[in-house]
Amino acid sequence: MHPIVIIGSGIAGYTVARELRKLDKTSPLLIITADDGGFYSKPMLSNACAHNKQAKDLINQTAEQMAAQVNASSLTGTKVDHIDTATNKVVTNAGNFEYSKVVIALGAQAIRLPIAGDAAAQVLSVNHLDDYALFREQIAATGESARITILGAGLIGCEFADDLAGAGHKVTLVDPNPLPLAALAPQAISLGLQDALLKRGITLQLGTTASSIHKAPDGDALQVTLANGSLVNADLVLSAVGLRPKLRMATASGLQTDRGILINAYGETSAANIYALGDCAQYQVTGGAQQVLPYIAPLMVAARAIARNLLGESTVIDLKPSPVIVKTPSFPVAVVPPGIKDLANGRWETELNDGVTISRFFDASNRLSGFAVAPHDARLRTRLLAELAEFTEA
Ligand SMILES: Cc1cc2nc3c(=O)[nH]c(=O)nc-3n(C[C@H](O)[C@H](O)[C@H](O)COP(=O)(O)OP(=O)(O)OC[C@H]3O[C@@H](n4cnc5c(N)ncnc54)[C@H](O)[C@@H]3O)c2cc1C
Repeated sequence: MHPIVIIGSGIAGYTVARELRKLDKTSPLLIITADDGGFYSKPMLSNACAHNKQAKDLINQTAEQMAAQVNASSLTGTKVDHIDTATNKVVTNAGNFEYSKVVIALGAQAIRLPIAGDAAAQVLSVNHLDDYALFREQIAATGESARITILGAGLIGCEFADDLAGAGHKVTLVDPNPLPLAALAPQAISLGLQDALLKRGITLQLGTTASSIHKAPDGDALQVTLANGSLVNADLVLSAVGLRPKLRMATASGLQTDRGILINAYGETSAANIYALGDCAQYQVTGGAQQVLPYIAPLMVAARAIARNLLGESTVIDLKPSPVIVKTPSFPVAVVPPGIKDLANGRWETELNDGVTISRFFDASNRLSGFAVAPHDARLRTRLLAELAEFTEA
C-alpha cells in the first residue's frame, strides 16, 4: 500500500499527521520537507528576542522525534518539484514517491518590495526558524543595541517592533498607512497601539514607504531613504510587508490556484486525492467565498477535517470566527475582522471601559460581524465571541 504523503513540516503538516494518528495508528505515512523537519511554534518568532531566545531554544522536537511520535517516515532537506497526478507520484530532488493520498502544506513566502539602492538585497524577513537564526546572528554582530528599521506596521511588523524594543533595540517602524495595524483593526484600536509603541520608544514613520536602501559611506550601516524625504540610519532592515502562498509546486502539478491553492469545504484541491491547508491554501469560507487565512486557528480546524477525509470520511472544514491575536505586550490586541464586503457598508462602534477599548463592527443590516479589543484577556474574548455567535447563528 502506498503511503499518505504530507509535503511540508510546518504546523499544518505536523498537525495533520498528529490528527491522523489519533484516528489511525498504522497507515503508512511519509513526510517530505525542504527544511530540517524540526518542530517549532512559528508565532514565537516575533516574541522571542525580548526573551533572549536563540533559534535552537525554539525547537520543541527534532525531525526524528516527530517521525517517531506520528509513526511516519520522514525525508528532510528534500524539495518537492511537482506531483504527477497521472502516475500518482510525488516528484522530488531525491527521487519519486508513489502515494495513495497527498496533503500539501507548503506555507507561504515573504513578499519582496521593489526597493532601489546598493543595499536593498540586505533586507531580511523572518518567516522560518532559519530566517530567525540569521536575524539573531546579524543583530549579535552589531552589538548590544541595534538600530532596526522595520518595513510594514501590520500584525507581524508591530509584533517585531514591540519585541525588539523590549529587547533594548532602537526600532523605526515604517508603513504607508497613517496608523499601525490599519488593515486589520479599527482606528480606535490602532490609535491605542500607536500610543503604546511610542511609549516603548519606537519611532514611527507612517504614511510613507522606503524608496531606497544604501550602504552608509563610512561603515557597515545602512541608510534607508523614505518617500517623505527622511533618512533613517539602520544596522538592519527587516521587511514585514506580508506573505504570499507558495504556488509554484501546485501550478506545476496542474492544480487550480488563485491567491492560494484552491480547496473545497473538505480540504480537497482540484485533483483527486490531493488536499491542502495552512498558509499555502485558499479556504472556502461561509457563503462559498474563498479566503487565504494565514493563521493557526483555521489550519487546526482544517487539519482535523482533512485527517478524517484522508480515511474516507466527508468532514467539512467548519471555520468559526476566531480572534486574530496581535502579540504586542505593550498593547495586546484581539480582532475578529469583518468580511471585506461588510467593511464597505458597515460601521465600527467603540466603547472605552476601565482603559479597555472595545470596538464592535455592525454590517449594513445592523448585525454584529466582527470586533476588536485591547488590552484583551480570555474572559473578554469569550464574552465578545458569544455576542458574535448570537448574530451568526441567528
Ligand atoms: C513571525 C510570525 C508570527 C506569527 N504569529 C502568529 C500568531 O500569533 N497567531 C497565528 O494564528 N498565526 C501567526 N503566524 C502565522 C502562522 O505562524 C502560520 O499561519 C503557520 O505557522 C503556517 O504554517 P504552515 O505549516 O502552513 O507553513 P510553514 O510553517 O511555512 O511550513 C511550510 C513547510 O513546507 C516546507 N516546504 C516548502 N516548500 C517545499 C517544497 N517545495 N518541498 C518540500 N517542502 C517544502 C517548508 O520547509 C516547511 O516545512 C505568525 C507568522 C509569523 C511569520
